[in-house]
Amino acid sequence: MPLFCDVAVPVPLDMAFTYKIPDGMGPVVGGRVLVPFRQQRTTGIVVELHDRKPTVTAKNVISVLDAAPVLDSFLLRLGRWIADYYLAPIGDVFRTMLPLSAEFKKSIGYRITEEGQMALHLAGMSGSSARSRRTPDEQAAEFRVLDYLSNSDVDMVRAETLRSATNISRQVIEGMVRKKWLIREDLSAPQDAKRTIRVAVLKSAEGKLNENQRTIVETLAANTGKLSLEALQSLEVPRSTLGTLVRRGLVEIVEEPADFTISRSKPRSSPFDFDLNSAQKSALKQLRESVDSRKFAGMLLHGVTGSGKTAVYLAGMRSVLDAGRSAILLVPEIGLTPAVAADLHQIFGDEVAILHSALSDKERAEQWHRIKRGESRMVVGTRSAAFAPVNDLALIIVDEEHDSSYKQEETPRYHARDVAVMRAKMSDAVVVLGSATPSLESYFNAKKSKYALVELPDRVEQRPLPEVEIIDMRLEFQETGHEQVVSRKLAAEIKDRLERKEQVMVLLNRRGYSPVVLCRTCGQKLECANCAIALTHHKREHKMVCHYCGYIAPVPKACVHCGSEYVYFLGTGSEKLEELLHGMFPQARIARLDRDTVRGHEDFERTLNALNEGELDLIVGTQMIAKGHDIHGVTLVGVVGADVALGLPDFRAAERTFQLLTQVAGRAGRGQTPGKVILQTYFQDHYAVQYAAQHDFIGFYEKELRFRSWMHYPPYSALANVLVRSDKLDDALRWSGLLGKWFESTRHEGVRVLGPASAPIMRLKRDYRYHFVLKSPSREKLNGALRAMLAHAAQQKIPRTQVIVDVDALWLM
Ligand SMILES: [Zn+2]
Ligand SMILES: [Zn+2]
Repeated sequence: MPLFCDVAVPVPLDMAFTYKIPDGMGPVVGGRVLVPFRQQRTTGIVVELHDRKPTVTAKNVISVLDAAPVLDSFLLRLGRWIADYYLAPIGDVFRTMLPLSAEFKKSIGYRITEEGQMALHLAGMSGSSARSRRTPDEQAAEFRVLDYLSNSDVDMVRAETLRSATNISRQVIEGMVRKKWLIREDLSAPQDAKRTIRVAVLKSAEGKLNENQRTIVETLAANTGKLSLEALQSLEVPRSTLGTLVRRGLVEIVEEPADFTISRSKPRSSPFDFDLNSAQKSALKQLRESVDSRKFAGMLLHGVTGSGKTAVYLAGMRSVLDAGRSAILLVPEIGLTPAVAADLHQIFGDEVAILHSALSDKERAEQWHRIKRGESRMVVGTRSAAFAPVNDLALIIVDEEHDSSYKQEETPRYHARDVAVMRAKMSDAVVVLGSATPSLESYFNAKKSKYALVELPDRVEQRPLPEVEIIDMRLEFQETGHEQVVSRKLAAEIKDRLERKEQVMVLLNRRGYSPVVLCRTCGQKLECANCAIALTHHKREHKMVCHYCGYIAPVPKACVHCGSEYVYFLGTGSEKLEELLHGMFPQARIARLDRDTVRGHEDFERTLNALNEGELDLIVGTQMIAKGHDIHGVTLVGVVGADVALGLPDFRAAERTFQLLTQVAGRAGRGQTPGKVILQTYFQDHYAVQYAAQHDFIGFYEKELRFRSWMHYPPYSALANVLVRSDKLDDALRWSGLLGKWFESTRHEGVRVLGPASAPIMRLKRDYRYHFVLKSPSREKLNGALRAMLAHAAQQKIPRTQVIVDVDALWLM
């Protein structure tokens, strides 16, 4: 038996910690253990078993939570790769990969000591102590706590119980711990992950029943004699009725493991269409052949909007399932609607597990176990589904691979597409990246034959791509004499579609009513208290909101800087555009889709369903409306200000704009009637706008690659953003200065270092921010420089959490 184990614990440190294994305990590599860490207990993953005695005294493992690994050798390797590639703490990486936090509950308990008993006794005798400097309120509070604990039936009382029973603050209780009147203990322990629900079971239907009772009994009988209490509540009979049936012995209530309900929305009436055209068939053939070869292969599926990529994915997954192997389909955050889930359930039945952000921790853990046990071999999910513990992985598909929601913007800052490619490599599996607007990186890799390039050049059923007309908004201003939000041409086209009972989408990629409030007297903007960002006016909610940190301020009547009454609300967001369109087309049924109207997948789905069912004429929204929906009635797409990004200091601005314009244009004309797009812009000569209007991906790609090559940007260089932040300006300045000097003195050959410079958003969420951009044609050299920089930062006592290393950063703001 090995004597020690190295454990990765979820703390921001780039190392594992050594613990001693007590006799009779058998931890396994890839399994979880409970260990003490800085006066607390925490779970960690065992990464190595060994007999090497550490230089410092090792603490004992408290308990072993898994008899078998929860992370198999592939996932352990993948985790190590992520930690290395993204310079992320290994414990944080494993925590991200393993959604099992619900199985371990943090809990604190308190017990009264002898000193505490004595204090209680004395307080009872003398009423209060004259020498005490405590206020009578404090004494009374302490007395309540002591009294409760001394009368408690259990030795150790949980913190939550104690606080709710006595209504005493944690500070007072912790003060009593310091006086040794109480002992605090960590009661954290593994939890049973199995979630249960209460179910009514029909025992007998004999005897006289009144109408309500009969409703329940008949409903139960119609549902195999069993139904959850939650489902019974929808029957609209009084709660007491069920109680009566239980007392009469006709119905019994039992606890049962909750079966995960995949979707509350009804499956489509018609089954999914697997009638593939010849381009789809040949893509599928190539996919199947790659899978059958059981070797790593990458495929870039470049299909124009509406070309039927999803049908290829699902057919590919079905053949993997038939072969008894596993597949993972990654989809962007907003793509996983209940309707999609229902479709998947219809095709794959219980074999599909769906992982999305709306799941509770417990549901996530349940799904994880189902996949691990091999009960679900088809996994569909957002970013973190790249870590699903499937066995015998044959295929990973990344749908809309260019989508920025695949990048995690917190530690570990991994990109799920790149993790998927690496996982496929490690598992000799096939990875398929699909998009109508592939990222520059992926297309570049395909062109260099790292991936096979498979094209779906036409829409299904030979439907034409929509015609795009560009409206130059500078000209519109000259001709009309004032700033227009909706151009005359777009207004005329909308009117025309509404008269023909066709549907319209209008994109404005900015939410709220007015994005800027400006004082005409002193010229200052109203900014967030925590960020160097203008507050946005939200009219309906009557408040000013920061879109970066959520800060809220009242709507100003006068300038907060100089008191002037001349405050102006400038610019247009989606809320104002909706109001404008209501005014222009009072008869039209209009809805808005943005983060203010959509709180969850269901809101999103409801609005799209209404559009699909013809209950809406016009939909206004942010980029949310651009993503992947297939609404056949939409024949006109208006684009109002989707080119704002072109004015930002971000080298990916052109790529993002091109993708957004192409994707939103792709919503038009997916049914029988051809579509049209009106693209309003202030940058009409910009190549991103021009190529999007011509549906010319290749043209855009080649032009953009030249720019990237000149500027040494990805895909020609590996790039990392290093952000130094602190809520104290002095610290942020000093730390970034220290690192800047260090970069200067060390001169890493083959690595360009730009900075330190203040970040484009100088202050965010109270933190002052400075950054460096590192570029290198060699990823090894870049990684080496970053690693050395982190070591130097640690030496200089710069807290690890205040230096953010973002490898392959998508946002440099
Ligand atoms: Zn002012
Ligand atoms: Zn803010």
